[in-house]
Amino acid sequence: MNYEISSFHLRPYLFKHRFYPFREYLKEHFPYKVHKIPLHAGFTCPNRDGRVAVGGCTYCINESFSPNVSGHSLPVREQIKRGKEFRRKRYGAEKFIAYFQSFTNTYADVDTLKSCYEEALSDRDVVGLSIGTRPDCIPDDVLGLIEGYTKKYHVWIEYGLQSIHDKTLSRINRGHDSRIFLDAIHRTKNTCINICVHVILGLPGETEGEMMETAEAVASLGIQGIKLHHLYVAKNTALAEEYFQGKVQTLDKDAYIKLAVSFLERIPSDVAVQRLVGDTQGNFLLSPVWNASKTEITDGITREFERRDTYQGLQCARSVSMIKHEISRSSKTVGEQEAEALRHHTINI
Ligand code: SF4
Repeated sequence: MNYEISSFHLRPYLFKHRFYPFREYLKEHFPYKVHKIPLHAGFTCPNRDGRVAVGGCTYCINESFSPNVSGHSLPVREQIKRGKEFRRKRYGAEKFIAYFQSFTNTYADVDTLKSCYEEALSDRDVVGLSIGTRPDCIPDDVLGLIEGYTKKYHVWIEYGLQSIHDKTLSRINRGHDSRIFLDAIHRTKNTCINICVHVILGLPGETEGEMMETAEAVASLGIQGIKLHHLYVAKNTALAEEYFQGKVQTLDKDAYIKLAVSFLERIPSDVAVQRLVGDTQGNFLLSPVWNASKTEITDGITREFERRDTYQGLQCARSVSMIKHEISRSSKTVGEQEAEALRHHTINI
C-alpha cells in the first residue's frame, strides 16, 4: 500500500532537527526548563573490580567522559548545589534531573543506593533521577527501589549496550551478552521507569550492516531514549594498546555523521535522542581528533538528514504505524494540515 503522508505537522521537532532532541522531550514533559546534573556518587564497576571481570571495557576510562570522576569526589548534595548554580547561570535552568553517571550506579546494596538517590532527591529543585548502569547489575530489589521513585519523580535508567552483537561485546570486554541486556530491558519495561540505551558506533570489527542490526534490535524494544557515541580511543586504555598495534581504526567525522543518520532512520521518532556524539574531558583523546564542536556534529547530522530528505524513524515500521495512527486520530484536520505541511514523504508499507 502506498501512503502519501506528511509527518512534520504531527511532530514539529522533526521539521526543525530531523530527529527528536531530548530538550524537546523535556519541554513536552515539564512546564519549566529542566537540565541534567551529572554526578559521581563514588560507585565502582563490577567489570573493573573483578566481580565480573578486571580491566573493564577496553575503551573505558571514566575520567575521559565523566567530568566529576577526577580528583576528590564531593558529596552528592554539594555536587547538586554546584551543578544547579552552574546550569542556572549558564542556561537559565530551573529544575533538575540528578544524573548518576559515573561507573555503575546500581552497584551497591539497596540501603546504600536508597540513601544515595534520596540525598539527590532531597533537593527541592530535583524533579527526576537518571541512573546509568550495566544490564547485569539490576537485580529485582534494586529495580523495585528505583520504581518506587516514579510515583513522585521523572525516572530513567540508562543501560549501556553498545552493540547487540555478542562477538563485539566479547571483543570490547563488556562482561555481559545481549541476552542479559534483553532480560534487563524486559524486567524494566514491567515498571514505570523510562529506559535509555547507550550505543557506540564504530566499534572494532563491526560492519555498517552490523551497526544497523543493533539499531533494528534497539528499535524493537519500546524504549524512550537513546544515546549515540562514536568510538574514541583514550589514553591508558586497552583500546589504546590495540590502536597503537594497528588493530583498531576510528571513524572520520563525515563517516560518523552518515552512520548516525542511518542509525536514527531506524529508531522510532518518539524515542528521544539524549546524545549524538561521544564527549571527552581533559587530555585523554588519542583518536579521532575532529576539531569540531558537539553543535557542529549535531548540525552536520541535521544537514545529512536534509540531504537525504529523511528523518528519524523513516525506516522504522513502528514509526510509520504511529504516524498512521496519529493521522487517523486527527482525521478531521488532516487535509488542512497536509496542505500546510512543508515537506511530504511517500512511505511504502
Ligand atoms: S561498564 Fe561502564 S564503568 Fe564499567 S568498565 Fe564498562 S564503560 Fe567502564
